[in-house]
Amino acid sequence: MTNPSSDSIENVLHENRKFPPSESFSAAAHIKSEAEYQEMWDRAKDDPAGFWGEMAENLDWFEKWDKVLDGDMPDTKWFTGGKINAAYNCIDRHLKTWRKNKAAIIWEGEPGDTRVLTYQDLHREVCKFANVLKQLGVGQGDRVTLYMPMIPELAIAMLACARIGATHSIIFGGFSADAVADRNNDAQAKLVVTADAGWRRGKQVPLKVAVDESLEKSPSVEKVVVVQRTGAEVTMVPDRDYWWHDLMKGASAECEATPLDSEHPLFILYTSGSTGKPKGVLHTTAGYTLGTMMTSKWVFDLKDEDTYWCTADIGWVTGHSYIIYGPLANGATTMMYEGAPNWPDEGRFWEMVEKHRVNIFYTAPTAIRAFIKWGDDWPNKYDLSSLRLLGTVGEPINPEAWMWYHKVIGQEACPIVDTWWQTETGSIMMSPLPGVTATTPGSCTKPLPGIVPDIVSKDGTSQPDNSGGLLVMRQPWPSMLRTLYGDHDRFLATYFNEIPGCYFAGDGARRDEDGYYWIMGRVDDVLNVSGHRLSTMEVESALVSHDKVAEAAVVGFPHDLKGEGICCFVTLKTDDGTDELKEELKQHVRHSIGAIATPDTIRFTASLPKTRSGKIMRRLLRDIAAGRELVGDTTTLEDLSVLAKLRESEE
Ligand code: ATP
Ligand code: MG
Repeated sequence: MTNPSSDSIENVLHENRKFPPSESFSAAAHIKSEAEYQEMWDRAKDDPAGFWGEMAENLDWFEKWDKVLDGDMPDTKWFTGGKINAAYNCIDRHLKTWRKNKAAIIWEGEPGDTRVLTYQDLHREVCKFANVLKQLGVGQGDRVTLYMPMIPELAIAMLACARIGATHSIIFGGFSADAVADRNNDAQAKLVVTADAGWRRGKQVPLKVAVDESLEKSPSVEKVVVVQRTGAEVTMVPDRDYWWHDLMKGASAECEATPLDSEHPLFILYTSGSTGKPKGVLHTTAGYTLGTMMTSKWVFDLKDEDTYWCTADIGWVTGHSYIIYGPLANGATTMMYEGAPNWPDEGRFWEMVEKHRVNIFYTAPTAIRAFIKWGDDWPNKYDLSSLRLLGTVGEPINPEAWMWYHKVIGQEACPIVDTWWQTETGSIMMSPLPGVTATTPGSCTKPLPGIVPDIVSKDGTSQPDNSGGLLVMRQPWPSMLRTLYGDHDRFLATYFNEIPGCYFAGDGARRDEDGYYWIMGRVDDVLNVSGHRLSTMEVESALVSHDKVAEAAVVGFPHDLKGEGICCFVTLKTDDGTDELKEELKQHVRHSIGAIATPDTIRFTASLPKTRSGKIMRRLLRDIAAGRELVGDTTTLEDLSVLAKLRESEE
C-alpha cells in the first residue's frame, strides 16, 4: 500500500493471466501485429489530421472536406467543408457492389418471428419512410423522437431521418411517459415514431399509451407514426396519429440522400443517467460515421462472411453505434433481437447463436453475470462453435465473469474484446485488437489508433504507471460529442472545465507497466477508507469470486474512524444468506485484497438497483447505506420496487 495521504486511487487487483490471440486469428485479422498497431497509433498521435484524413477515404463523400481537424478541444470540428450522408454510407454505396442482396439486418422477434432485410430491401424501406417523413412536414434539422421496440422499423426510421437530415432522438422503449415528455421537450421534437406495443418476456409493453400520455406534456410534437407490432388496441387521434403501414403503402421508394455538412447533427441521445439528470449528447454526421465504421472493423474484425450480433438495445449508444451505424457502414450483416434473454427460457441467446450461426457476439457484464447465475447447462445445450470473437461493454467486467465468458461461451477459443467507451465518445476508445492484443481479465487494454488517453491528478498532472487517477483524453477524436443539446455551458462544465485542456467524463483508471488500462469505475464511486482510495470494482470482483455470490455492489458510507466504511450489497446464486456467510464473505474479501478492504457491512438482497441499461446505480445504494433520504433522479431506474425492498431490509 502506498502513502495513505496520497490522493491517487489505489488498485490492488492483481491479475496477470494473459491470453494472446492464436496465430491463425492474427493472420486473418484486419490488424495483424503489435507493430502494425503501434505504427498506426503513433502516426495518429503525431499527425491526427493526416491519419483521419486517410481513414475518411473509406467513406463516400458528395464533396470532400477542406479541413480534417478544425480547432482544438472542446469545440473541435471535423471534416469541415465536406458533404456527406450517413444513410448513404450505410446503404446506398453497398448497392453498387455484390452486397446488394446480402443480408443487412437479420431480425428475430421475441415470439420467434424473423425477418431478413437485404441491403436492397433496407434501401427501399428507408427511402419510403424518408418520403413519409417529408410528407408529414419533417425537414432537415428537425428533431424526431423514436420510441420503439427492437423491430426493423426502428432501424428504418433512424436511417430515414439520417437520409433527409432530420436529427433522431431515440428513447429506450422501457422508459415512462414522463421520461418521453422530458426528452421531447428538451429536444423540441416535432414528430414521434412509436409502435402499438412491444414484446418483453411474453408481455406487451404499451408504448402508444405512454406516448399519448407524454404528449399532454410535450406540445412541440405535432404528429405520431405508429407501427403495428403486437395488435394491441390503441387510440388513434385524428390528424395527429397515423399508422406506419398506411403511410408506407403510398410512399415512393425513390428518395435521394441529402448531401449534409460533415457537422450536421445526426442524433441526440440522452445518457442513461447512472449519475443524475439525463444529458442530451449530440453527435454529428461525418466524424461519428467514421468513428463507428473504423472501430467496428478494427475491434470486431468484421468480415463480409460474419454474422455479427450486438445484444444491446438500440435505445443505448451501443445499439446506435454497433448494431446500426458501424456494422452497416462496413456492409456487414447485423443481427437484431426484440426481446429478453430469458424468454421463453434462459437458453434463448444460445439458441439464437446456434440457429443463426453467429460469429461475433457483443454483450454487457450485467448479462454475463445473469448467464452465470442461470447456470452452464443453458449454453452447454447449444452448439456455440460458430463463435469466433466475444465482446463486452458497459461496466468493468469482474475477472471471474470474464473467465466464465472465456471458458463457457468462448470455449477458450475466442478473443474477448473488453471495450471501454461512453455515449459521449460515440465509438470505442480503448479495447484489445483481437488479432494483436494479449487480453487479460478485467482490463480494456490499450487505446485504439487516434485515441490519446492519460491518467492525471485533479490538477491535470500525468500520473506514473500503476498509481491510478482520473482518465482523460488529451487529443480530440472524430466521433466525440459536440455539445449537450441546448446547453453548451453544461457541456463545457461537465467534460472540459474539470481538467484543463482535456476531455474528462468521470471515470477513474490505472495504467500498468505494459501500458494496459484498468477502469476502476466512476470517480464518484471510488471508496476512501482510512485515506486509501479503493475501487469498488475490485471489492466487487473479490466478492463475485466467491462460489455463492452472483452479483455485488459496493459503496462507502460515513464512518467515524475510517472516514468511509465499506458496505456490500450482495445477491446470491441460491437463497441461503446466513450470518455465517456474511462473516465468510468478509474474510474472503480480506484475504483476496487485504485488511484495508475488509467490508464493514454485508447486506443480502434479491436484486440490485440498476439503470435500464443494466448498470448498478451505486449512488442510490450510497444513500441507503448511509441511511439517508434518497436524493437525485430515479427516472432511469429499472425497477423502483428494488429500492423499496432494500429500505425495508435496512439493518
Ligand atoms: P450517465 O453518464 O448518464 O450517468 P452512463 O455513464 O452509464 O450514464 P454510458 O455512456 O452508457 O452511460 O456509459 C459509459 C460508462 O460506462 C463509462 O464512463 C464507464 O463508467 C462504463 N463503462 C463502459 N464500458 C466499460 C468497460 N468496458 N469497462 C469499464 N467501464 C465501462
Ligand atoms: Mg456517463
